[in-house]
Amino acid sequence: MDIEHITDDLDLEKTLFSEDEIRNRLGELAKRIESDYDGEDLLLVGVLKGAVMVMADLARTLDRHVEMDWMAISSYGSGTTSSGVVRILKDLDADITGRHVLVVEDIIDTGLTLSWLISNLRSRGPASVEICTLLRKPDAQKMSVDVRYVGFDIANEFVVGYGLDYAEKYRNLRSIGTLAPHVYS
Ligand code: 5GP
Ligand code: MG
Ligand code: MG
Repeated sequence: MDIEHITDDLDLEKTLFSEDEIRNRLGELAKRIESDYDGEDLLLVGVLKGAVMVMADLARTLDRHVEMDWMAISSYGSGTTSSGVVRILKDLDADITGRHVLVVEDIIDTGLTLSWLISNLRSRGPASVEICTLLRKPDAQKMSVDVRYVGFDIANEFVVGYGLDYAEKYRNLRSIGTLAPHVYS
C-alpha cells in the first residue's frame, strides 16, 4: 500500500473519534469503574466481535484485577435493523451466580439485543449486571435498561472502526469514523 496508514484510506469520509480521544475517554470511565467496584470482585463480559477493542483497552486501563469472559450472540433481523430475537452462539465460560458483571459493548443502537442479553444474564442470579458502552445512538434512550457507563453519545449515522465493522471490514481501524458514500454503492 502506498498510503501511510489504513486510516488514510479513501473509504473513510470523516473521523469522529481519534485514537487519543478514545483512550482519554476510556481512562475517565475506568476511574469511575474503579471507584464504583472498589473492593468487589468484577467480571467483564465482552460481546463478540465488536467489543474486542473496547474490552482490550478498557481492561488494561483499569488499575485493578478483573476477569474477562466473552459471549457471541446473533440477532435475527432484516439487514441492518435488529429484531431483538437473539441466539447464543457462544455462552460464557464463567458461572456468574453472585458475581458483579459489567457488560462491555461497542455500540448501542436500538438496544434490543442488549435488553435481551441483560435479562438473560439477570436470570442467572448475579450480584449485579451493569453496562459499559463506548458509543450510544439516540434510539438507545428509549431502552428500558439503563446504561451506567457511556463513552460518547453519537448521532444516528453508521460508524466503523475500533471493532465496528461494515461487512466484517474496518474493525482494525484505530479510530472511529464514517464511510464515504462510494463504499455503499
Ligand atoms: P441494537 O440491538 O442496539 O440495535 O444493535 C446493536 C448492534 O448493531 C451493535 O452491536 C452493532 O453490531 C450494530 N450496529 C449498530 N449501529 C452500528 C453502527 O453505526 N456501526 C456498526 N458498524 N455497527 C452498528
Ligand atoms: Mg456489540
Ligand atoms: Mg456488525
